[in-house]
Amino acid sequence: MANTGRKYTFFDKGAEALRRTLGEEPFTDESGTYHPTYVCPLCLTAFWGKAVEEEDGELTLEHAVEESRGGREILLTCKKCNNRSGSQLGRHAKLREKVRRFEEAITGARDGETFRIRLDPGHEGQDVGALATFTRREDGSPHIRINVLQDHSNPEHLATFSDKMESASEVDGIPDLSFGVQWRPGYIANRARVADLRSAYLVAFALLGYRWLLTNPSLDKVRRQIQEPDEEVLSGYMFAPPENLDSGRRVVLIKEPEPLIWIQLDREGVFLPPIQGRADFYEHMLEEYFGTNLNLRGHEVQWPTKLEMFADFRDAPYEGPE
Ligand SMILES: [Zn+2]
Repeated sequence: MANTGRKYTFFDKGAEALRRTLGEEPFTDESGTYHPTYVCPLCLTAFWGKAVEEEDGELTLEHAVEESRGGREILLTCKKCNNRSGSQLGRHAKLREKVRRFEEAITGARDGETFRIRLDPGHEGQDVGALATFTRREDGSPHIRINVLQDHSNPEHLATFSDKMESASEVDGIPDLSFGVQWRPGYIANRARVADLRSAYLVAFALLGYRWLLTNPSLDKVRRQIQEPDEEVLSGYMFAPPENLDSGRRVVLIKEPEPLIWIQLDREGVFLPPIQGRADFYEHMLEEYFGTNLNLRGHEVQWPTKLEMFADFRDAPYEGPE
């Protein structure tokens, strides 16, 4: 029931935002009666109130960022869009982060983290399951502790593993063995990027609303890219945070070198057009700034924790919550 209540709240807010932005009552039936309407931000399908009435209604609570990356339910999308992309794309973004942490652990940049890996001591496909914990010794040199997982290993492979350990010559009391380490989280880089794009787009919509969503022709391509994550519809939308900025999530309204919205998702950053941005926003960004040392200036606004739609509910240009 709590879910249904929140759905109504988001629906009412969205419908009022849409009415204000379109400046009239565009959603009427044959008899001329106005029906409050919510438009799915991903596919632009319009829904009337009954779409939130039942638990399995056509409009569903949507996380932005995805739930698997710790996002919250802050808006509604239609069931089709919610099911189609959200969690599947988020999985790739999550695995990308795991790969980076693994790389950092191996190179000693990250301390005290444990990963599940497969070890193949003879490079012969006789791998065993293991936990690898990466730490640093007092002198800073990397140290890896391996715990073989009996329950996650083929018994024959385990026996081979023990033989190899016992027959290995020792160097300073440690078996001198070379291991093949398998760690294949299997994420697709494009899908991880589209997960970022999708999350950033939904966060911007929750913050700014329909005035932003409907005044930017360049967002058509963003929506198509989200619907077709394996096609290259759009490029030039990722811009990583500068190194001196700590990891985290933030919305920054950029003023210089030109107006745009930059959304930071931990180690990633996504460009989005400002309200009433140019139709060729992304082509323009690539042409002007690709390969240059881009120095963005602007101010951070509060990350939305619910459907805010600030740009629909005030007349002045949006500069951040008041
Ligand atoms: Zn939809």
